[in-house]
Amino acid sequence: MADTSYDVVVIGAGPGGYVAAIRAAQLGFKTACVEKRETLGGTCLNVGCIPSKALLAASERFEAARDHLGAFGVKVAGVELDLPTMQGHRTKVVKANVDGVAYLFKKNKIDWLKGAARFKNATTLTVEGVGDITAKHIIIATGSEVVSLPGIEIDEKKIVSSTGGLELTSVPKKLVVIGGGYIGLELGTVWHRLGAEVTVVEFLDRVLPGMDGEVSKQMQRILNKQGMQFKLSTKVTSAKSSKNGVTLTVEPAAGGSAETIEADIVLVAVGRRPYADNLGLEAAGVQLDDKKRIKTDHQFRTSAANIYAIGDVIAGPMLAHKAEDEGMAVAEIIAGQKPHIDYDAIPGVVYTFPEVASVGKSEEQLKQAGIAYKTGKFPFTANGRARAINATDGFVKILADATTDRVLGAHIIGAEAGTLIQEIVLAMEFGGSAEDIARTCHPHPTLEEAVKEAALAVDGRPIHI
Ligand code: FAD
Ligand code: NAD
Repeated sequence: MADTSYDVVVIGAGPGGYVAAIRAAQLGFKTACVEKRETLGGTCLNVGCIPSKALLAASERFEAARDHLGAFGVKVAGVELDLPTMQGHRTKVVKANVDGVAYLFKKNKIDWLKGAARFKNATTLTVEGVGDITAKHIIIATGSEVVSLPGIEIDEKKIVSSTGGLELTSVPKKLVVIGGGYIGLELGTVWHRLGAEVTVVEFLDRVLPGMDGEVSKQMQRILNKQGMQFKLSTKVTSAKSSKNGVTLTVEPAAGGSAETIEADIVLVAVGRRPYADNLGLEAAGVQLDDKKRIKTDHQFRTSAANIYAIGDVIAGPMLAHKAEDEGMAVAEIIAGQKPHIDYDAIPGVVYTFPEVASVGKSEEQLKQAGIAYKTGKFPFTANGRARAINATDGFVKILADATTDRVLGAHIIGAEAGTLIQEIVLAMEFGGSAEDIARTCHPHPTLEEAVKEAALAVDGRPIHI
């Protein structure tokens, strides 16, 4: 290897790490990114956001052809699933994305060092298969990995994590999903659309527990109507694989008698943990917090002065766009700039149908904080475009400060919710009020008009209900 000293070395090429590397290179730093996976892009591009959305898109089209086009007067006969082609769509989409990052690295003259990195000291890393490299600044972006439950061993065949759950080669007759969060609902939806009988077992008393309570309840009702089954307030105590499938033992979360459930495939989706294993953090003086995340200050600095950390491995929501924004910001901080991330305006989207999108505070959080707020709500049943596309389930809810009218949170359940939320995110970023959204002209006929109507409803003056 020619020159082994860099200005900036990033460990991990997920959305946090690869964006940090590109931004650092743009700012004129001699930059390398160490990635141990065969391809760039991290969890998100390889086994997360991108492949799951490829399957969600494909399965939605299959379901539409099978069940929904008739209502529009489109007769479709002999709809059949071609799962190998659908899975081929997923792998093609992943390849295009990971190759895209490799192209961007070349374009920005970033060295991709293939192998696992480990700290020798605060400025030297040993990269497996490459050797020692030195850097003035090191950014840890090593992401997260799936967690399982005691008594449950993920074998990626019958008891799968999201990674195995994306790669199934046949549709299970009966799929049990443990965990009613993002992955449980998204991948549960994919296999349900393709014909599996799906039961979601959730420990808490509602699905999507981090989201606004009203949204969680409505989402469960809608998915239930679509045919997914839910066992709430229930914990799984064991899952045993046999030749014929998996036997799960479950019991009420609050205690009580156990029962068993049979499944062909079990998907474990009970969350992810920050991943900083085998990094040799002690040699560099980098400390973890009480939740085993890398401890950072508001400028992503770890307990070692020249070492930074971003993305899933630090505090905050485990979302790709949060990791990306931190990747941009950390490179700019190293360059002496003063970027800012508004953690109150980071949206979360569940890409089911309908979609669920959320930003800022939920009603429960506002009540708990004792903040007086006004609510504006508008149902999609009253939106012309929603009727035109047969997508009238759901609503837009905007929460605004009772005194100042500043938007504090928004929660949408409905078609394209993930796209609709963005105008509210932008309003929040600029400290906007519900009145600002209400007075902004919205094109007709669009689903966006429901956002405007919800903003009008904050002041008790919606037009179409
Ligand atoms: P990662 O993407 O996890 O990347 C970390 C990289 O570091 C990995 O490639 C790893 O191999 C590498 N690495 C680790 N240790 C070392 C080492 N010592 N040396 C070299 N390399 C190392 N988020 C969304 O916002 N939207 C979604 O739709 C979405 N869908 C998801 C679907 C699924 C099924 C999953 C599992 C996750 C999804 N996420 C989604 C979450 C998203 O993938 C993560 O938030 C995001 O990938 C975090 O980015 P990161 O850069 O912090 O880490
Ligand atoms: P999650 O935190 O979204 O959901 C985990 C669910 O499992 C929760 O509802 C939790 O109450 C439940 N649970 C925990 N222990 C349980 C137990 N013993 N029995 C039954 N249920 C239990 O986690 P996830 O779905 O595994 O996803 C991991 C992370 O990946 C998410 O937090 C999210 O940050 C990210 N992700 C994002 C997207 C997206 O943005 N669309 C999609 C997938 C994943």
